[in-house]
Amino acid sequence: MESSVEHLPSSLPVDNPTTPFWRTELHELDEHRSSPELPHKSDIVIIGAGHAGVSIAYHLLKSDKDAEGEPKSSITILEARQVCSGATGRNGGHLRPDLYGRIPKYMKRHGVEAAAEVGNFEVAHIQAFNKLISEENIDCDLVITRSMNVYLNADEANQARETYESLAAQGLSFTDDIQYTSGKLAEAASGIKDAKACLSCTAGSLWPYKLVTSLLTKVLETGAVNLQTLTPVTSVTSEAPDSHRVHTPRGSIRTKKVVYATNAYTFGLLPEYRESIVPCRGICCHIALPEGQEPPSVSYTYILGTEDRNGSSYLISRPDRTIIVGGAQKSFKGFRNQWYNVVDDSTLIEPARSYYDGYMQRTFRGWDTTDAHVKEIWTGIMGYSYDSLPHVSDIPGRPGQYICGGFDGHGMPIIFLAARGLAQMIRMGKKFEEVNLPRLYKSTAERLRAAQNGKEGGDILA
Ligand SMILES: Cc1cc2nc3c(=O)[nH]c(=O)nc-3n(C[C@H](O)[C@H](O)[C@H](O)COP(=O)(O)OP(=O)(O)OC[C@H]3O[C@@H](n4cnc5c(N)ncnc54)[C@H](O)[C@@H]3O)c2cc1C
Repeated sequence: MESSVEHLPSSLPVDNPTTPFWRTELHELDEHRSSPELPHKSDIVIIGAGHAGVSIAYHLLKSDKDAEGEPKSSITILEARQVCSGATGRNGGHLRPDLYGRIPKYMKRHGVEAAAEVGNFEVAHIQAFNKLISEENIDCDLVITRSMNVYLNADEANQARETYESLAAQGLSFTDDIQYTSGKLAEAASGIKDAKACLSCTAGSLWPYKLVTSLLTKVLETGAVNLQTLTPVTSVTSEAPDSHRVHTPRGSIRTKKVVYATNAYTFGLLPEYRESIVPCRGICCHIALPEGQEPPSVSYTYILGTEDRNGSSYLISRPDRTIIVGGAQKSFKGFRNQWYNVVDDSTLIEPARSYYDGYMQRTFRGWDTTDAHVKEIWTGIMGYSYDSLPHVSDIPGRPGQYICGGFDGHGMPIIFLAARGLAQMIRMGKKFEEVNLPRLYKSTAERLRAAQNGKEGGDILA
């Protein structure tokens, strides 16, 4: 069985991306190569050194301890650009379970039990990060707080209440943590001008680049992992379920197992995912005050709707009191060529360029008289999913190959524990059903077919 997949020219990350705030302090591993040449062979090859690729390597090494008696695996990570230069290094730093948007949608489509698995899995990330950071002594500015979903439109505020009540009526454990506030109290509780209602739950914020580079440091210290940055994978060929060759412009590596942690760029190596995981460009920025001005404190993280219900923004406040905010769909959603099926993060989304000028003054109580301004602005490429769900499992029809991607612009409360489940499958030969992953994450031939044969864009363009 010899199969070959040639990469499509436009499927690789571009080599001159915009610079996000998170990458203004680069780590010594940023362009690291563990050896001058690629290893000739490796038990496992992971493609992509973002949150997913590095977390999988971390958990593979952890599960080495559980696979006692078996020889340790050699692992190679191949990264097209620098470490954490994809979506993870350009995101909003928001670690927030999405309980009111996605879970009701999954409930309607797949039933309460399957949706609850996803809700519990996302919620579990708050404690998982807390534990990881203290166990591994990682400094990544993790702050655990509450996230406010703020509704400025009265109808939307009512719908939020109905959603909350119907979730609570199911008796799901995570709904105990959700608080609904409306009327005059909403503005006071959230600090947002003209808020009609807000829903809050426990969430966090962090510096994703610092998290990933710290984890990578731990992983490389074991000596079991070879990292090769600036090494794009152009194709993967397979001769047998445990024999694959991963090709790059610097040569190829023979391996038993291939893991695609390529998120938005997956379609270039796995064309059957072209409709399932679509690269979509997003925009994000860093807002600061001139030196000497003290910003009013912002204690929560936010999802902020608009009065006309046209998109939302995600926002976190950093420990230094500067702000990271992104979204701005309202300004560009109608210009499909600016964001849909776009892998170019070297330019901004033009209609969104000035969306966040004056945003804090317009939106937050107490910021009117400040000189808060956009300090850095950048774009990043998300892997939007046709059915809003990630793909985390073995790949249908490609034995010995695995995928962890399609996070739909929402990877932070999914990836770390998804990587743990996938690592157990890869390292210990467990089945998907044995590793405690939400059943809806499985990448199946049916899901791929539904995206190939369904309405263009599915949930992404709905
Ligand atoms: C602007 C923006 C804001 C976001 N905000 C949030 C947020 O606040 N909260 C949240 O939960 N999520 C957010 N997300 C989504 C989140 O960042 C992603 O879900 C997550 O980072 C995906 O991690 P990943 O490792 O799968 O992908 P990535 O970080 O994109 O990593 C994939 C890596 O694979 C490499 N690669 C691709 N193709 C190849 C190849 N052929 N050969 C070698 N290497 C290759 C890429 O260079 C990249 O480094 C945001 C995303 C963006 C873009």
